[in-house]
Amino acid sequence: MDTWDLIKTKLADRIPTESFNEWFADSQQVFSENGKITVHVPETYFADFINRYYKTFLQQILDELKITKEIDFTTKSTSSSQSASIGKEFSHSQDISETTPKIRFKKPRFNENYTFGNFVVGPTNELAYATSIAVTEKPGYTYNPLFIYGGTGLGKTHLLHAIGHQLSHQYTDLRIAFLSAEAFMNEYIVAVRTKKMDQFRLNYRNCDVLLVDDIHILAGKVGTQEEFFNTFNELFDRQKQIVLSSDSLPKDISRLEERLMTRFSWGIIADIQPPELEVRIAILQKKAEKHKIQLPDDIALFIAKKIRQNVRELEGALNKVIAVAKLNDKKITPALVKKSLQIYSNDNENLTPDTIIQYIADFYKITPGRLKEKNNSASVVLPRQIAMYLCKTLTPLSYPEIGRCFGKKHHTTVIYGVEKIRKKIKDDPKFNRLIDSFKISIK
Ligand code: ADP
Ligand code: MG
Repeated sequence: MDTWDLIKTKLADRIPTESFNEWFADSQQVFSENGKITVHVPETYFADFINRYYKTFLQQILDELKITKEIDFTTKSTSSSQSASIGKEFSHSQDISETTPKIRFKKPRFNENYTFGNFVVGPTNELAYATSIAVTEKPGYTYNPLFIYGGTGLGKTHLLHAIGHQLSHQYTDLRIAFLSAEAFMNEYIVAVRTKKMDQFRLNYRNCDVLLVDDIHILAGKVGTQEEFFNTFNELFDRQKQIVLSSDSLPKDISRLEERLMTRFSWGIIADIQPPELEVRIAILQKKAEKHKIQLPDDIALFIAKKIRQNVRELEGALNKVIAVAKLNDKKITPALVKKSLQIYSNDNENLTPDTIIQYIADFYKITPGRLKEKNNSASVVLPRQIAMYLCKTLTPLSYPEIGRCFGKKHHTTVIYGVEKIRKKIKDDPKFNRLIDSFKISIK
């Protein structure tokens, strides 16, 4: 066993196996003289990387062993004199950045409008908001990874930008990588094809904060998942902050490797549901303010009542109203709004949850109040779940909003009920016909 082998054994006990295998398994000592050893590594960037991230570990081991003072890393193709610039000395005083000029780092650009200040907080997004703020206060320590999930147009990308903004203002030296999972995949594919994996890895494994949007698109992308897995481990091991957004829970992303799924759940999972009426109104007011438009309350209420599931659409509706008003040089009136938003009209516009609840209660010969009680007897549970299902399919209400119509039930109870009925409809044709008859008669 030579000195380097001895150092490696000690190192293997201190760093994660995956990192050890990746960075040290293929290195060998080739030379030793007067307390200095020379070690061969497969590629030059290994020397950069080791020097940058494992210097402290190696220095500690050198101090303990007291046989070697210096390690020189070289590649097989370079002679030892040429390699002197890399990893020459492991001394604490050496400035890391001087030894690693090769790492190119693009500063991401964050959308000026997507800040925490411009994000309207309400009960359905406050966890995602609060955890995002927490991440900016202590990156890498409080919640890692932070996994934000929710339907489209609900503010996931907005929060990722807000985190990036905040961090880049707070810590000017922080290396923040921000990209969509799709961009990660495309860059990875190009790197493989052009044999530039070393540069790709240096970019993403050297950042202090990694923000990846729409991670669900990695579903079924085996090679990219593998690469992302290694990137994740590398960063996580060094307590670098990782924030991911997705349209669904880790366990619901199809064809996502188990090991990634578990890692995504290691920190905190924060969901975003569609905002409730008051928040939708506040969002409209905030956006109108940006446009320097005075939005009358009744107009905000009207738009917010029409569009319930998606903030992007809500914004789109407002923009459309503003554009139509400007184009025709008119004030924003209810008539103008109605005209501009025709495309959003809905056949079931006047159908309310109470109408549905009343109808189902009548059918099952119980009082509507019983469907809202905390009673879980079999005679009430099925009609309640049917009514919840009908609210979900016949009205644009969100799960939390439906929950409130059923005596303040939690949105997860509604989700559970709706799913139960969906399954029963699939499995039981007779039940399916019954539900169809409800849909027709209630309308
Ligand atoms: P997602 O990434 O979830 O699909 P985005 O972050 O792109 O959604 O949001 C869509 C639009 O809605 C953006 O313009 C964003 O600013 C806006 N938005 C979403 N949620 C909020 C909120 N709570 N407050 C203010 N604007 C919001
Ligand atoms: Mg998005």
